[in-house]
Amino acid sequence: MPELPEVETIRRGLEPVLVGERIERVEQRRADLRFPFPENFGKRLTGRAIVSVQRRAKYLLAHLDDGTVLIIHLGMSGRISIIGHGRERGQLGAFTHNQGDRGAHDHVVLRLGSGTEIVYNDPRRFGLMDLTTRAALDAHPLLAELGIEPLGPDLTAEHLARHAVGRRSDLKSFLLDQRIIAGLGNIYVCEVLFRTRLKPARAAACLATPTGKPNARTAAIIPHIRDVLNEAIEAGGSTLRDYAQTDGSLGYFQHRFHVYGREGEPCLTPACRGKVRRTIQGGRSTFFCSVCQR
Ligand SMILES: [Zn+2]
Repeated sequence: MPELPEVETIRRGLEPVLVGERIERVEQRRADLRFPFPENFGKRLTGRAIVSVQRRAKYLLAHLDDGTVLIIHLGMSGRISIIGHGRERGQLGAFTHNQGDRGAHDHVVLRLGSGTEIVYNDPRRFGLMDLTTRAALDAHPLLAELGIEPLGPDLTAEHLARHAVGRRSDLKSFLLDQRIIAGLGNIYVCEVLFRTRLKPARAAACLATPTGKPNARTAAIIPHIRDVLNEAIEAGGSTLRDYAQTDGSLGYFQHRFHVYGREGEPCLTPACRGKVRRTIQGGRSTFFCSVCQR
């Protein structure tokens, strides 16, 4: 499942291809993904120019010249391919592949004025596309309840402490709560807690003083959240280039994690003799070292 770094990597891949281009033709090959497509989906996009490509949590937002915003979520298995883009190799989006090679799961094709085609492929169809306006964007049902962006200026020790004070839930579910921080997924929460040396099952209230002020732990966790995500975006960027040149797809990437997926392997903290353990919290795997995470 694509997490925030994958979505940001895809955004960075799409931006130079889309911005300034006009959508010449829209092929919508089915009535729904996870939800039905909005009415007149193709008609509302056709002829419009793309002004910017943003990301909010795990949503891609394409802003159009008439104030329309195209919202895209990749769900579990969504991928976006750029086909027939005529730039030289070595840049994001700089690749071509067989135009006749259309997959059964290519659900939407946007043809741009440049001749480039943007293809949305999603075998499991948990993804979605919707249209709104710039003015209504923040109130959109998918976005209205989202917490702050972990890579933006709103991620502060004060924000975390304010939400953590008196909270009975554990640290893992606190950090996964999309109403507090938007877009921090399971893998990255495990990595953040490992770096902060905090046990995932510990009470979230440990991130605040009794009066809701930040403490040393709150201050320590903030840079780890940013670093874990930024490192993954950087790794994704380089992996994506290699991947894109062979396949034409912007999609998942493999990234080396410290604890995630390393059950039974030695802890990577220097001088720690622990092994990475796996437990289930809230139905999802948690990886941690019970020796150095307290
Ligand atoms: Zn350890």
